[in-house]
Amino acid sequence: MSGFVFGEKPIEIESGDGVTLYDNGGTEYLDFGASYACAPAGHCHPDVVSAVQEQAADLLFVQGSYPTPTRTALYDRLAELGPGDCSNVWLCNSGTEANEAALKFARHATGRENVVAAKRAFHGRTLGSLAATWKQQYRDGFAVPDHVEFVDYGDADALRDAVDDDTAAVLLEPIQGEGGVHAASDDYLQAAREACDETGAALVFDEIQTGLGRTGELWACERAGVEPDVLTVAKGLGSGLPIGATLCADWIADDSGDHGSTFSGGPVPCAAALATLDVIEDEELAANAAAVGEHLQAELADLPVRDVRGAGLLVGVEVKRGATRALRSLALEHGILALPAGRTVVRLLPPLTVDEVDADRVVDALEATL
Ligand SMILES: *Cc1c(COP(=O)(O)O)cnc(C)c1O
Repeated sequence: MSGFVFGEKPIEIESGDGVTLYDNGGTEYLDFGASYACAPAGHCHPDVVSAVQEQAADLLFVQGSYPTPTRTALYDRLAELGPGDCSNVWLCNSGTEANEAALKFARHATGRENVVAAKRAFHGRTLGSLAATWKQQYRDGFAVPDHVEFVDYGDADALRDAVDDDTAAVLLEPIQGEGGVHAASDDYLQAAREACDETGAALVFDEIQTGLGRTGELWACERAGVEPDVLTVAKGLGSGLPIGATLCADWIADDSGDHGSTFSGGPVPCAAALATLDVIEDEELAANAAAVGEHLQAELADLPVRDVRGAGLLVGVEVKRGATRALRSLALEHGILALPAGRTVVRLLPPLTVDEVDADRVVDALEATL
């Protein structure tokens, strides 16, 4: 296992403030990957830091059989924020666990086994989520269960054909992140909703990367006006503290079986999540993501690239000569950290606090790089 380094020059990060990270020599980096989308409110937002510090001083942890004020408040908050009927909350520690729970709950509630997912999908690395993850490299050698049928993302007919009375869940990202930044059309998500309604399968939206305001709405599915039966969220929820959530409709939650986790809803990650949700709301970060994202995409469209796509501050730039070269040059020559999404796509998903000046810096650097 190796760290994320650029050839011979590892970048060791020592501190962070807003969109900026600092290495041990004091060199600044603009974090346009938001550290895997885990810093929607920016690094070390003072409200999140103080919420964590205060909670840590009061109570680091207590077993989940005792309610705590922070967990109860987070349950209420997420229940209110969940789309449609998704007002039942299960808390866990990562994205893959949120999806794992979603699939378990859907299987239990439907009494069925099969899952329909999309080619290029990424849902996590534990066996259940991995079974719905497309990339062969992640699956090789792990004897991944084979109850998942993969369909072409965006092809509504193929999806309708695949979903039947044995389908427990249809699991989709409203915009595929790691798979190359591909957005589903509203019609496609609507077709998924209808196929689930007709067969009794659960529609599960994985909003681990698209959620929390990144695409300009709190949830990307709101853009399409389609409500899932289950929605999963993680990554930025705790500003980097490990927390994920599975938000379920009543019919799923009422028959979800026996599931649990020791760390579920621990006080410190819950405090971080509550503070993060407050910042996203108070600073109107979804609206900022929409505005700055639109500016960013418009500026990027003038560059000599194959394609610019995405929504809000989840943007994919398909480059001609490979993403690795571009990412290395961005980091080492321009002090900008971005992410790949496959071999040819540079993925930009900065903190939702960025402004147009930050966006222009990245566009100028990409232009120089290309
Ligand atoms: C990152 C990601 C996951 C997995 O989250 P982990 O916290 O790494 O387990 C699942 N789905 C999507 C869409 C993701 O982007």
